[in-house]
Amino acid sequence: MSEYTEFNKELEDFYKKKSLYKKEYNYIKHTIVNNEFYRQLPRNEQQIAIRNIKQNCIQCKKKGGTKFIEGFDEEKNYRFVKMTCGNESSPCNLFSFLTIPKVYSFQRIIEEQESSIEQLKKDLINLKNKGIYGLITNEDAVKKYKEIKEQLSEVYMLHTSFFKDYMQIIENEQKEANKTEILLKIDEVLTEMRVYLGDFNDLQNTHSLKVAVNKYIHDLLPKLMDLRRNSYNAMFVHYNEDDNTFNLMQSKYTIADTEYFMDDPSVQKTNNKKETSSRLVAPVSDDIDWGSDDESDISKVNNSYETEDSDDDGMLLSRKKLIIDQNTPEESPVIESEIL
Ligand SMILES: [Zn+2]
Repeated sequence: MSEYTEFNKELEDFYKKKSLYKKEYNYIKHTIVNNEFYRQLPRNEQQIAIRNIKQNCIQCKKKGGTKFIEGFDEEKNYRFVKMTCGNESSPCNLFSFLTIPKVYSFQRIIEEQESSIEQLKKDLINLKNKGIYGLITNEDAVKKYKEIKEQLSEVYMLHTSFFKDYMQIIENEQKEANKTEILLKIDEVLTEMRVYLGDFNDLQNTHSLKVAVNKYIHDLLPKLMDLRRNSYNAMFVHYNEDDNTFNLMQSKYTIADTEYFMDDPSVQKTNNKKETSSRLVAPVSDDIDWGSDDESDISKVNNSYETEDSDDDGMLLSRKKLIIDQNTPEESPVIESEIL
């Protein structure tokens, strides 16, 4: 799967952007629900406020947000992910469409091939028995025998090829050969270093010490790096929250290395604009639409939000004003109340 670098990069990009977008939403929501003004609102207005959280497009920053779609095309039988601008009047050119083919692990394919081989062998035995007991005509038996033999040789061929590729991944012979060579070199460098260090210990010769240190930096360390690269394909540090420890995880190969795409994935992308990095917006900003279709009208005026209560005839009864300091939005806003 490693040959699909562009596809993997784009897929990672999609999920990274989607996750940042969701984080931004959660952040806005969190800020709203912790807001004193919000807490004073009736429950239905609270729901409206949350429902009306609006985000801007990650690229053009316009209203409408960004659409992240994960779907399945029934007709063409593939999974896809799609990212587009959500602005209706003038969407920007943000566009990414990736088709994701079915992925099988090498192990699974090989296991399926092995069971096919077993089944075909059983079919051959059955055919033979049928022939012995005269349950099938000679002509049919020969025809069937040929068919099974052909299928069998086809599966054998595929199995050999998959098995070879799989072994190349898990028991990479080239890497094993490289490792042997590197280990020999390491041994040579260590022997040389020992001589120089011995010289320093016996004669206090600082020049020998310098040579030994230089050998360590310029010869030994790069070889150790080489050894690590040839020993492990996957290396990362895992942090365990439970016991606050860091663990170095090393593996000869990754799961992705042992996966096989049944078709080629495709990448369609239009994104000429220079990308602006995703950022968390100010907790209360233009991105939030408080909605105005409710009895109590909440509208945004600069950094303040107003709510008005009116009676059935539209007569204003009271007005509340929420003022948020943009510089310190996390502080409780000022609420001005006016009974009319
Ligand atoms: Zn856009």
